Amino acid sequence: MFWQGEYECMDRGELELLQLERLQATLNRVARNVPLYRKRFAELGIDPYDVQSLEDVKSLPFTTKEDLRQHYPYGLFAVPLRDVVRMQTSTGTTGKPTVVGYTSGDVRRWSELAARILTAGGITKDDAVQIAYNYGLFTGAFGIHSGAELIGASVIPSSSGDARRQISIMQDYRTTALVCTPSYALHLADTLEEMNINKTALSLRFGLFGSEPWTEETRLEIETRLGIQATDNYGLSEITAVAGECLERTGLHINEDHFLPEIVNPLTGEVLPPGQKGELVLTTLTKEAFPLVRFRTGDLTALIETPCTCGRTLRRMTRIPGRSDDMLIIRGSNVFPAQIEGVIATTGIHNPHYQIVLDRVGHMDRATIMLEAPESFCTDSIKESQRILENVRIRLHTELGVAFEVRLVEPKTITYEAQGRIIDRRKM
Ligand code: ZN
Repeated sequence: MFWQGEYECMDRGELELLQLERLQATLNRVARNVPLYRKRFAELGIDPYDVQSLEDVKSLPFTTKEDLRQHYPYGLFAVPLRDVVRMQTSTGTTGKPTVVGYTSGDVRRWSELAARILTAGGITKDDAVQIAYNYGLFTGAFGIHSGAELIGASVIPSSSGDARRQISIMQDYRTTALVCTPSYALHLADTLEEMNINKTALSLRFGLFGSEPWTEETRLEIETRLGIQATDNYGLSEITAVAGECLERTGLHINEDHFLPEIVNPLTGEVLPPGQKGELVLTTLTKEAFPLVRFRTGDLTALIETPCTCGRTLRRMTRIPGRSDDMLIIRGSNVFPAQIEGVIATTGIHNPHYQIVLDRVGHMDRATIMLEAPESFCTDSIKESQRILENVRIRLHTELGVAFEVRLVEPKTITYEAQGRIIDRRKM
């Protein structure tokens, strides 16, 4: 089953012609409307009209997350604000988020791409799709939501939150498909057991999981415990719905007619030969409001060149095993240590000495910050220390969307030499 078979199963030669045509249009648009690209192209002596083949993309400059941060909020928009119908934010490498704008055409294409991913994962108009992503933080929730509506499925936007309530909704509404992070799916499986409900009492058939790295073992566990077929999908808040698995589950089909993928050496930026693992770099081919040229995703993967038995000709990428930078994924939210440090500093604790400890309790991530008490801190009253700690906790939750436990430890007790700044005890 395909959603847009004419594109998903396109002849490779035709697809490449379409990609080139769209690439040229994108380059012209950014050179005309986005000062950063105009400047960079001029510096490198690049004329968008000189790009005559897909190979030529190699000569173009990269766009980094740092570029996005520096042009906050609207510096990289390629259309005037009056043409933007939606804005969503994503967390960047520091406290400052990235604002991503969408024209009505962007929103329509995004829905189509999400509909492709849902269809590839087995969803039809007969399904009741429960979306248990946090709508406030996840760009992904909105994409899947509109994609499922486009297919004609019944959407249940249960959002994140109380697991028992999710199970009740699943039972009462006879949910057939679950969309959430893989760790949350396992947490729901635990809750099901706690509630003494057999999986056969549910109507679940499919699960579409994303937003955090997971393994084949986890897939098997989710499938067995929830009695479903589980597929992986991949998207980026800066870009939208990039790729998704079909039911063959041998890699994620990239929506190549909308995004041009490259794999580069994360250290040198050099393009790697086909099949080799490296950092995924994406150029958007159809985005109007927020086009990106050679965006460094920070995600490590490889492109699979062999055809898939499902009939799609879109190339696949291997599942994302990890990031090329120091980003942490905590309960599906992206967090950088630098952000944590930045937030702590705003509470009046300068140059904080801290360690981040990540555990998995049941199937949920637990994030604890061990904060070394500054000298001045200890002499203050306990009440005052508690107030400051509570302030740190609230600020972290508000700014990063992650509930951290914050603990105070004696001065000079944290040594980074042994374990580093981050202790991740979660088993994937
Ligand atoms: Zn396939």
